[in-house]
Amino acid sequence: MNFKNIKVILFDQGNTLVMDPFQDIVEKIKNNVSKVIFKLSKIEFEPDLIKKNWEKSNNEINYPHISHFFQEEPIILDFLENLKIPVIYHGVIVPKILFLYRKEIKKTLLKNNDVDKLHNVLNYLISKGLRLGVFSNDRKIDLFANLEILGIDKYFEYIKSSEELGIEKPNNKIFEDIKSFFYPIKLNEMAYVGDDPEKDIAWAKLNGLMSIWLKLPKKYAVAKWRNYQFNFNNFNKPDFVINDLIQLKNIF
Ligand SMILES: [Mg+2]
Repeated sequence: MNFKNIKVILFDQGNTLVMDPFQDIVEKIKNNVSKVIFKLSKIEFEPDLIKKNWEKSNNEINYPHISHFFQEEPIILDFLENLKIPVIYHGVIVPKILFLYRKEIKKTLLKNNDVDKLHNVLNYLISKGLRLGVFSNDRKIDLFANLEILGIDKYFEYIKSSEELGIEKPNNKIFEDIKSFFYPIKLNEMAYVGDDPEKDIAWAKLNGLMSIWLKLPKKYAVAKWRNYQFNFNNFNKPDFVINDLIQLKNIF
């Protein structure tokens, strides 16, 4: 595949453009979550036990368009249930926990992401005449908020969540929307950059795009909904493997 033919670069969001803030936020708020639970149910839990159970639920719960970065009610309900907190308290505890979590998102994203590097790479790609887009398995509110928090939404002319299309990666029908947006550019003139071997790389490659795998360290592979164990074959393996987005400057 010749990189000189590439006119459009599409990106995954989670753990590609924006790193997962979940672990750091839970660590930061676990004491306050323990206090909220005690205040509303009179049951006392060690903050670390709450953290452990929340992480377990976050790693196991998955359904279409779920936002693990933004957190959602079913994840919180699952760990409250696992902690055997009576269901009569769930209705008032859940919104309090979501509030504690979500008000930390902005600060955590700005701390955990190298914003200067993102601007550097995206500016470079634009300066090379490339057109940029994002497709993410996510809710619209989370995708747009994250890109705006990091100030990188302006680089992308196409930004779409699976929630808006009603289908998730690795569904091939997503490319119909992408093709019609960038018409007359063809899929073999596009590249897709992502961290998930199956849902990003194999999916893009089998649809004729150039695929660029952002290979992350194993510590990112804890969640069941991230299939980092996927084995490539000759037909779906990445065209390029990078371990930092800055390396896109070496490809284009
Ligand atoms: Mg991802």
